[in-house]
Order: sequence, then C-alpha cells, then structure tokens
Amino acid sequence: MIAEEKPSHLIQPGRKIIVAIDGPAGAGKSTVARHIAEHFGLMNLETGAMYRAFALKALRAELPLDDGNALKLLADETTIRLEPGDENNRVLLDGEDVTGMLRNQTVTEAASRVSVFPPVRAWMVRLQQQLASQGGVVMEGRDIGTVVFPHADVKIFLDAAPEVRGLRRFDQLGPKSTQQPEEVIRDLRARDARDRNRAESPLKAADDAVVLDSTEMTLDQVVQAADAIVAARLAEPARHS
Ligand code: C5P
Repeated sequence: MIAEEKPSHLIQPGRKIIVAIDGPAGAGKSTVARHIAEHFGLMNLETGAMYRAFALKALRAELPLDDGNALKLLADETTIRLEPGDENNRVLLDGEDVTGMLRNQTVTEAASRVSVFPPVRAWMVRLQQQLASQGGVVMEGRDIGTVVFPHADVKIFLDAAPEVRGLRRFDQLGPKSTQQPEEVIRDLRARDARDRNRAESPLKAADDAVVLDSTEMTLDQVVQAADAIVAARLAEPARHS
C-alpha cells in the first residue's frame, strides 16, 4: 500500500508533541517558550517556577538551604501545580497561589540552591513528567531534553554570553531593580556555575538538541529561529509512537 502524501507543514491530528527548551538564565527561554506555545497551540510549562515555589516553602519554613535531608522531607509533604496564566504560569503551592512571590532575588537565589539536591530533583522530575503526560506541551528548564523528556520531539538549547544575558535580565527588571547591571551578571554567573557543575542532571545541551546561541541576535530573531526549528521538526514523521 502506498502511503498518502500529506502536506508536510501540518501537525498530524492527535499528535501530542513535547518541545523541550533548556538553557541558562536569561537566554530567552521564557519568551521563546511562550511564543512557541501560542503559535503551535501547546501548553507552556515553566519548570523553574516549580523550583522557585519549593524554595519559597523552604524559606518560609526557615530550613537551611544546604540540608538535603530536611529538603527531601519537605518535598514529601509538598504539592506544586502549574496552570496556564497570562504571561507566566500560575503556580499553586499546596493549593496557595504564589505566582507573584517567586521572582524576587531571595527566592531566585534559594531556587538555585535547593535544586542541586538529587531527591529534590527526582521528585520534581516525576511531577513534571506527570504534568506533561498527555503531551501537547512546551516545557522549559535546565534538564528537560536530557532527563525529564529525553524523547522529546523537539529539543532546543538556548545560550548566550553571560554579559548579554545579564543585561537582558537587568532590562527586564526595569527601574524597580535594586541591583546594578554588574551585580545581576555576577549573580547569574553564580547560578550558572551551580547549574552546570551539580552532580545530578547538570545543565547541558542534549546530544540531539539544536543549540541556538543568541549572543548576537535580538529576542525577535531568536523567536523566529526557534519557530523555524519546531516547524521543521513537525514536518518530519513522529520519532516515537
Ligand atoms: O528558570 P528559572 O530561573 O525560573 O529557574 C530557577 C532555578 O531553578 C534555576 O536557577 C535553576 O537552578 C533551577 N532549575 C533547575 N532545573 C530546571 C528548572 C530550573 O535546576 N528544570
């Protein structure tokens, strides 16, 4: 039997794809993920927000952020849910909407620290796999293409020079920023080092990820490039059933 030719740019009906977007802080992941989700009709899931919510709970409990055992026990009694939101996901921590409490410097730093512990990561990975079990998602983070969904249909690793990422972050913070640009760059480098050097699922591009270095690109150009990568991948047959 000869297979019928299909227009190559259409997503096959019922095909529930997973797009993994990984990379360091400030590389443009959120902007790209939001755009891809909207353009291809997918749900956008920000895994960083989950680590941030857990960090908030650890801070509230006044746990030492280097006590892996205490953090594991805390994780055992924590539920985190992501729901679609306006710009970012709505984040429910034990049922409480904590969306507006996650983007400050204290929580940012704490999220980076609690995320190095293997039991915390194993728990998060399970949650993330459950959240996206039906497919039809863009998931952004640090280990999506390597650990959470190693069989993702599309993997993009976004990168850029630390100075460029730091300045983008500084611009995003706007006038309310209490930090100077060089402080933002310094913090970002420290978070990068923690993400890249941790023993458990360090930040790195999956072997089969498309690496997009946006150092010399505008965010608009990055979005267009990512869009083209997803469209090209969708034109190919599914990798797995
Ligand atoms: O992406 P975002 O900056 O919101 O992530 C907050 C922190 O959570 C990061 O600094 C990183 O250490 C951690 N993270 C992680 N793995 C992910 C997502 C975030 O370790 N998949």
